This record gives sequence, C-alpha cells and structure tokens, in this order.
Amino acid sequence: MSVFNLSDFADHEQVVFCSDEKSGLKAIIAVHNSNLGPALGGCRMWPYASEEEAIRDVLRLSRGMTYKSAMANLKLGGGKSVIIGNPRTDKTPELLKAFAQAVERVNGRYIAAEDSGTGVDDMKFMSQFTDHVAGIIDKPSENGVRSGDPSPATAYGTFVGIKAAVQERLGRDSLAGLRIAVQGLGNVGFDLARQLKEAGAQLWVTDIHREPLLRAAKEIEATVVAPEEIFGLDVDVFAPCAMGAIINDQTIPQLKAKIVAGAANNQLAEPRHGLALMNKGILYAPDYVINAGGIIDVYYERTGNFDRAALKSHIESIYDNLMEIFARARKEERPTGEVADAIAEERFKR
Ligand code: NAD
Repeated sequence: MSVFNLSDFADHEQVVFCSDEKSGLKAIIAVHNSNLGPALGGCRMWPYASEEEAIRDVLRLSRGMTYKSAMANLKLGGGKSVIIGNPRTDKTPELLKAFAQAVERVNGRYIAAEDSGTGVDDMKFMSQFTDHVAGIIDKPSENGVRSGDPSPATAYGTFVGIKAAVQERLGRDSLAGLRIAVQGLGNVGFDLARQLKEAGAQLWVTDIHREPLLRAAKEIEATVVAPEEIFGLDVDVFAPCAMGAIINDQTIPQLKAKIVAGAANNQLAEPRHGLALMNKGILYAPDYVINAGGIIDVYYERTGNFDRAALKSHIESIYDNLMEIFARARKEERPTGEVADAIAEERFKR
C-alpha cells in the first residue's frame, strides 16, 4: 500500500507511525496542515479491521480538522491520531503512557484531545507524560464547575447553527413550534435536544440505547421513534448527532426535512450527496462548521483563556460563518459543503 497515493492523502505535512512492543501500542498521528498553528485534534481508539482502514481514517479526520479550525478562525492547524485497538478491552495505562510519549516526541506540532474511544480521564492520565494534550481542565460554568469535556460547547454551537439554518431556509428567528428530529442522544445530542425544547421546538428522537430515550421522553417530552424511522419524519429540521455517512443514497429519498443541521462528523457519505440535498431543496449546514463549538472550547482552554463571555461569543460566531456560507451558496448556486471548503481554504492557505 502506498500512503502518498491514497485518495485521503491530501498533502499531509507529517504522518507518524508509532509502536511500542511492551504495551502493544500501534498508533498513527497525522498532521495535515499547520499554517495557522499547531495541529489539534482528537485521539480516536478503534478496533480497525486493517491498517489501511486506520490510515485512511486518520488522514481524512486530520484534514477535516484543518478545515474546521480555519473556519472557526482559530490559530490551529489540523491533526488527528488513531490508536488501533478496542477501547473496552485494550486500553491500559501502559498503552496510554506509550501513546503520550509518542505525542511528546512530535514536540507540540500535534496536540491530542478526546475522541471516540478516549475520554477526559485518558487525556488527564496522558498529561503526566506530555504537555501536548487538551480538554483536561475543569472550568467554571453556569452550573458550577464542568470537566474538560467539549460536548456542551459543541451542543451549544449546534443549537446556534440550527438557528442560522432556520433563518436562512425558513426565514424566521424563533424555533418555537418547529418540528425537529434528533438522531443520537449522546453527550452532544441530549444537550442539544434539551436546548431545542427550551426554545419551544417539538422533538422526535432516536437512539440505539434505551436509557437516553426514556430520559428524553420524561425530561423533554420528546417523541421516541425507532432508529430507521428518524429519516422519513415530516419535520422541519433533521439533526444528525450520532455517526457519520448518514446522508446517503438510501436516506436522501426518505428525507422530508427542509434542513439538515446536526453535530455528527462526516455526515455526507460522499461529497456528491451535498449536491443531492441541494437539488431536493434541503439546506445542509456543513458538519464541521456547525459542530466547531468543541474545538473552540478546547482552544480557549489550551490558550489559558477562561473568559466565559469571550468563549460564548466565539461559539456564537458559528451563526455568522453559516450565514456567510449560505449566502454564497445561494448566489453561486453551489452546495453549501463546497462553499465551506472554499472559504476554509481561503483562510488556511492564505
Ligand atoms: P456519543 O457517543 O456520546 O453519542 C452518540 C449517540 O448516538 C449514542 O447515544 C449512541 O447510542 C447513538 N447512536 C449510535 N448509532 C446510532 C444509530 N444508528 N441510530 C441512533 N443513534 C445512534 O457521541 P457525542 O460526543 O455525543 O458525539 C455525537 C456526534 O457528534 C459524533 O458524530 C461526533 O463525532 C460528533 N462531534 C462530537 C463533538 C463533541 O464535542 N463531543 C464535537 C464535534 C463532533
């Protein structure tokens, strides 16, 4: 396999393969672009079926981080790392220590944060062996102290982004009375659903686990539907907050929503699905633009800025970013995802 020839290799600056025999570590750190600053991005632990799958994932995800941070006007580049293994059975202190030491050797060009399969506690543990981890500091919040978990910031940014999409597509400021379907009630999805409810929206929700569904029915009076039913609901907004590639050839024909706007990463199975949404009159809020609240939060922590008002207003700039994208997409008659990429490139290639 040639890494340079992979379709996901997009002029990456540095790709580091890390291993440690004693702990069994096999990991890859990818720095896509550092024009704007050090490459910050999550560390994903996943039992990849093959090394090629892991390489493709880390290349694709690190490139995405460059676009996300540039779009959010952060002085950060794009990077990501993957540890090959099952987080439930293979994650040991020795393995995390070896990975942290590998991050340390990259000397600050890459900064790790939590992602699928890793959490705040793992990052805190790793911080004993490297300075280059983020998302670890307990911070003040409206409800007392909160952990370094960026999910609440992601949920708030997504909420603000949905308001922008509603303004653009439906020409209204308020979410009151709107019908919104939320797929996935995890760390981000539940918090988002709660905020949407508080703003007066009527909610339909789904998840593959029972517990959050029972909570949602009880606490936010959401209507629970089966996972496969969420796509075809007669709603105004579909908010994907579970996994990627859910906008595809099977789901697009089912969609009745006028807006797709949610926190999940890599929502479009392929770029052409952005055009398919546009042709169907569905406004798509590009995922990495609307879900940037978390990286903004981590950036503030990393730079030692604990000014809550400044952070909140930076997260709220997601609204303006989306409005700029929507306006340009309308004018140029192009899919919003394409326009977002063009704007991000203008920012990080400058
Ligand atoms: P999470 O793991 O806490 O939640 C995901 C939820 O989706 C879980 O409750 C899971 O049971 C559910 N789910 C999985 N498959 C499903 C299916 N087929 N149908 C319905 N529900 C399903 O993750 P999270 O941190 O809430 O992140 C959600 C999404 O947002 C992910 O795509 C993540 O990459 C993205 N994201 C998260 C953050 C963050 O700050 N946490 C930041 C940016 C992007």
